Amino acid sequence: MQDLPRHQGKRRILVEKLKEKGIQQKEVLEAIEKIPRHLFLDSSFEEHAYQDKAFPIGSGQTISHPYTVAFQSELLEVQQGEKILEVGTGSGYQAAVLCLMGAKVYTIERQLSLYKKTSKLLPKLGYRPKHMSFGDGYKGLPDYAPFDKIIVTAGAPFIPKQLMAQLKVGGRFVVPVGEEQQIMTLLIRKTAKSFEKHTFGEFRFVPMLENKN
Ligand code: SAH
Repeated sequence: MQDLPRHQGKRRILVEKLKEKGIQQKEVLEAIEKIPRHLFLDSSFEEHAYQDKAFPIGSGQTISHPYTVAFQSELLEVQQGEKILEVGTGSGYQAAVLCLMGAKVYTIERQLSLYKKTSKLLPKLGYRPKHMSFGDGYKGLPDYAPFDKIIVTAGAPFIPKQLMAQLKVGGRFVVPVGEEQQIMTLLIRKTAKSFEKHTFGEFRFVPMLENKN
């Protein structure tokens, strides 16, 4: 599959819609305008890839709505060269957005088939996370910690303590918290022991599951 002018045209319209919905960060909008989202989806969704919708990506999982990806990316306040941990690699689309924004991306996925598929796809499309890992996101990646930023892209029933411990002081941790629906939550690590918590609207994610290995 290719990235054609008609795909690019649809992306420009999508970016306009995201702006109308309140997304403002230039770097986030630029990344969404550049990344061929249709190439992260099964070809049967090609014509729908630039609607603000979630789609199945196999193994019962979904690629998040572009608005959700944009909202979470904006909350992270990504700076060039920052080390960012993503829990829930899925299709790799969110990881591609972070790579394009200049982050050093470390990402974990617990579904083996998705991990394998996305580990091949991302470099093929020119996106190179620093590290892609198959395993349990609840544990984070202690060998690579601490991180400047952490993003969870599945619905977490609670905020995993082990992830909080892997955040640098001054760092931002974006996590949707809840079972059926999730409240988008931002934790800012103020000191080694204290976090400031901010909450945003409701979102709907596939669940963050305990590891089965
Ligand atoms: N960021 C992805 C969103 C995929 S949906 C994208 O842009 O496509 C969320 C993903 O989180 C799924 O692929 C799911 O398998 C994964 N996931 C759920 N629980 C997890 C856990 N404990 N550790 C790692 N990944 C997890």
